[in-house]
Amino acid sequence: MEEEYIKAAKAIKQADYLVAFTGAGISAECGIPTFRGKDGLWTKFKPEEIATYQAFIRNPEFVWQWYIMRMEKLKDTKPSEAHKILAEWEKKGILKTVITQNVDELHQKAGSKNVIELHGNIWRIKCIYCDNKKRLKKLPKSMPRCDKCGNIMRPDVVWFGEALDPLILQLAFDEGLKSDVMIVIGTSGVVYPAGHIPVRAKTMGAFIIEINPEESAITPVADVYLAEKASVAMKKLKNLLSSL
Ligand SMILES: [Zn+2]
Repeated sequence: MEEEYIKAAKAIKQADYLVAFTGAGISAECGIPTFRGKDGLWTKFKPEEIATYQAFIRNPEFVWQWYIMRMEKLKDTKPSEAHKILAEWEKKGILKTVITQNVDELHQKAGSKNVIELHGNIWRIKCIYCDNKKRLKKLPKSMPRCDKCGNIMRPDVVWFGEALDPLILQLAFDEGLKSDVMIVIGTSGVVYPAGHIPVRAKTMGAFIIEINPEESAITPVADVYLAEKASVAMKKLKNLLSSL
């Protein structure tokens, strides 16, 4: 195991273009439940009951109550050590970009600037009818309405069955292809097209470091697999980097 950490730290040290690809696992230790692993949010609710456009149209108030509950939890959630180390590496020029599947904005809270949010952002809302988009300044008490057309506003996140913003997806793939080292943290790798990003990077020659307590769909393509929680592994890597 120790050898694997050294291999990973050396790759990071030598990287010309290090990119991080993150999923729910990096936020799990902040108290944000992951969607899949055990105790995931979706074990209490079926995804098709909440995170689809159809479910929203059928019962927007219910879906909004669920999002408001999530936002309440998130409001006071602090980024993890792993989020902080990624932000620190960006500041030092070691890391170029974070590509995240998370909508919780914890990377930005930790100080990351160059973040590509594949699945949107829970603090933004958009009108289901016109193009009106805005950032929430405070928690809504109930379903927000569009101040331009009066229609229902929805969270600006990508729901099941919805396509990702093609421009954002392209940007993420471009960053992935530019990377010579990619550090993949806490993702099952089974949500597509996002899951293709590390695999594509690998086929283009990138060195893949995976951090995940459980093996994932990424593990078979990982050059180094660190079976550990994000913060524990990142702290180890950070310490090793300073000693190389
Ligand atoms: Zn509107």
